[in-house]
Amino acid sequence: MDKRTFLKNSAILGIGGVIAGAVPGTLKAADMISSVNYEEGLFELPDLDYAYDALEPYIDAMTMEIHHSKHHAGYTRKFNASVKEAGLGETGIRDMFREVSKYPAGIRNNGGGYFNHKLYWKSMSPKGGGEPKGDLLKAIERSFGTYDNFRESLSSAAATRFGSGWAWLVQTGEGLKVTSTPNQDNPLMDVAEVQGYPLLAIDVWEHAYYLKYQNRRTDYIAAYWNVLNWDFAASRFNKNKK
Ligand code: MN
Repeated sequence: MDKRTFLKNSAILGIGGVIAGAVPGTLKAADMISSVNYEEGLFELPDLDYAYDALEPYIDAMTMEIHHSKHHAGYTRKFNASVKEAGLGETGIRDMFREVSKYPAGIRNNGGGYFNHKLYWKSMSPKGGGEPKGDLLKAIERSFGTYDNFRESLSSAAATRFGSGWAWLVQTGEGLKVTSTPNQDNPLMDVAEVQGYPLLAIDVWEHAYYLKYQNRRTDYIAAYWNVLNWDFAASRFNKNKK
């Protein structure tokens, strides 16, 4: 986006520097974007917080590069086209998801692809791994009994999701839950079996692991635990404002 457009959008938003890309990977940035001229490309591919090879040896550099620069970029481009085609330039992404069943399939598939990958990049970190702490750990123990039960539950949801999809840790009115979704659906969508606020995401599409792990999805899931970004999950816990 050029400077003139940035200033125009900032003026419309009335929130100065808060604009797509300023806070990549958070819900807030996307939530606050409304009334922006989507001709410019409302949604932008966020940069990663780390290098493509930073998650080696657990997630390989080539997978990361293709996944981000091709797959996620493609979803972002197609989502902008879908938003324009559906005339949803005034609508925030959370509002789209809340009633996604009413909108064209491109909003569901490309909007999910855009949003889910943002969460996925943040769900991993070269400084990740280990176990959750504090209030999040207590909430996990309340909902799952023990941390190990939770870990088994998330691994199992990721492993058994048939075909392409995602596994999630979500916060709901009834505590924390593990769930999985097909394709690019997510728990913020009205079509999701378990609805809630996602704290962590695991992409289990083959493109997330095939180069390194081929058909061994469970090996990829086991590796994911070594890079899982608990600080990010903790930063989202109890933060859902909608
Ligand atoms: Mn993916």
